[in-house]
Amino acid sequence: MLSQVVELIESRSDFAITSHMRPDGDSVGSSLGLYWLLCALGKEVEVIMRDPVPYTYQKLPGAGRVRVTPIVDKAYDAVFVIECSDLTRPGLVNLDQQFVVNIDHHSTTALFGTINWIDSTASAVGEMIYNLCKAIGVRPTKEIAECVYTALVTDTGSFHYSNTTERTFKVASELVRAGVRPAKISQNVFNNYPWGKLQLLSQVLATAKHDASGRVAWMRQTLDMQERAGAADGDGDGFVNYPLSVGQVEAVAFLKEHSPGVYRTSLRSKGDVNVARIAEKFGGGGHRNAAGCTIIGDWEEAERTIVRLLCDAVDGIDPDDDTATPLGDPEQDAQPETVA
Ligand code: 5GP
Ligand code: MN
Repeated sequence: MLSQVVELIESRSDFAITSHMRPDGDSVGSSLGLYWLLCALGKEVEVIMRDPVPYTYQKLPGAGRVRVTPIVDKAYDAVFVIECSDLTRPGLVNLDQQFVVNIDHHSTTALFGTINWIDSTASAVGEMIYNLCKAIGVRPTKEIAECVYTALVTDTGSFHYSNTTERTFKVASELVRAGVRPAKISQNVFNNYPWGKLQLLSQVLATAKHDASGRVAWMRQTLDMQERAGAADGDGDGFVNYPLSVGQVEAVAFLKEHSPGVYRTSLRSKGDVNVARIAEKFGGGGHRNAAGCTIIGDWEEAERTIVRLLCDAVDGIDPDDDTATPLGDPEQDAQPETVA
């Protein structure tokens, strides 16, 4: 819990921070926010990650200092593991031999740390890092504020998603007071794509389909598309949200070919449709409205399976009912009819 984290930071001096493979806005923003917080306290600290900081987040203060390594190659007083559902998610060899502090806002996370600070009411881990700043008595510097704001704005989908709360806005407001310029962050994060991403998007959108009800949509990205567009591995991030912009669509699956027969799958939903439950069936996880997993097998079969599960989930929800409705039975075996 928070008080244990504060006590640990106050009593020790040499730290590392890491997060999950293929880091996103919350993992990079929160890791760097914590990095600047520990720097402000005069601690020895470095951020280590298995994968490089994605292009989108390279302008964040401290992004250039992240050390990319597949192994934890020294003994730290403690390693903070940010936004990870289990200890394998960072993809770092020998991490299990360290004193691990687990900081996450997913309720489903495993309690793998010696200290576990989990706050599922936080919109992003960034919000927790801000709370840590307050608890430890550090006034957020501009660097801390920019990193934490980036975590907030990305994990809430620019304050669109249901995890956006009064507290999120309060924290955001205080970060703006600490020197954040929201337009500058949004420009860097959302209007800073390479051309290849647009070319890739045009190919991926051409594969979008929906079921007969119009409530479930899916699309795919092949390695061939990525090559033709000259796009990088992470350039498909965020594409899953496009079908969700259609009024009727309540659940989306986006299957991205990672290597032949291996599909990184992003799931998104609106309202009560719980896609985390579906991701968990494939060893993944996430939140009710945003989750992910890796599916192995044949393209058509993988797509059919995931679409069927999404159809079952939306079937249990009345599209005209704004109040809470029960979830569908994911074990049902209804076959979606493919349209478009
Ligand atoms: P995305 O679709 O953007 O990759 O991930 C959406 C959400 O699902 C994020 O909150 C992320 O933490 C979670 N997520 C994505 N992939 C996995 C996975 O393989 N395992 C787990 N446990 N969570 C995942
Ligand atoms: Mn997050």
